[in-house]
Amino acid sequence: MISIAIDGPSGAGKSSLARRLAAQRGWLYVDTGAMYRTIGLYALQSGVDTRDEAAVAALLPGLSLALRYVDGEQRMFLNGEDVSGQIRTERVSMAASHVSAHPSVRAYLLETQRAFARENNVVMDGRDIGTVVLPGASVKIFLTAGAEERAKRRYDELCARGEAADYDTVLADVRRRDDNDRNRAAAPLRAAGDAVTVDTTGLSFDEAFRALCAAVDARLG
Ligand code: C5P
Repeated sequence: MISIAIDGPSGAGKSSLARRLAAQRGWLYVDTGAMYRTIGLYALQSGVDTRDEAAVAALLPGLSLALRYVDGEQRMFLNGEDVSGQIRTERVSMAASHVSAHPSVRAYLLETQRAFARENNVVMDGRDIGTVVLPGASVKIFLTAGAEERAKRRYDELCARGEAADYDTVLADVRRRDDNDRNRAAAPLRAAGDAVTVDTTGLSFDEAFRALCAAVDARLG
């Protein structure tokens, strides 16, 4: 099985580039951030403090989280309801960043994530795919870009979806999430020792995709 692990900070273009790579090669795209977002949404709906590990862990046995592919698109189901749209708000982004710091939440998702790669050729994106989830991945990519550029992309995305957004707030959120993801004790965001870094600052989507493909093909040989 071929597995491509793509890690990096929020807004570096991981999901759109990973999705395109998977579609081009006929591999499965697995967005692990969507799983953390779904747990973040559930914690918000349940009214618990997303920073409180014991409270979040207590929710997990009552949670049914399913990842299904509908017309080739990954969709997230929370207790039977399709929440793929609801998990994309800024509020849920921050909740996901909080719940993902809890080791119990990470342990809860680990086996599901690994099972995808055992049974399929995958492009999997997240923060700890190359370091923890798939340490034996065929190719590891660390995809990054400057914080301002990542915030601008996120801001444009929110505006395109008709969500009220303020660039300075988005930039502050991007920095706060980077900080949470890099400094947490459990599976912090960092490049695996054998990862290839692809910096997409200043690159168009097509240029970034070409850089990603070149890195993947060089490693796959
Ligand atoms: O990738 P995305 O921004 O959708 O992920 C949402 C949050 O989930 C991230 O801010 C990060 O804290 C967390 N995450 C993680 N490990 C992963 C994927 C996402 O901790 N493998």
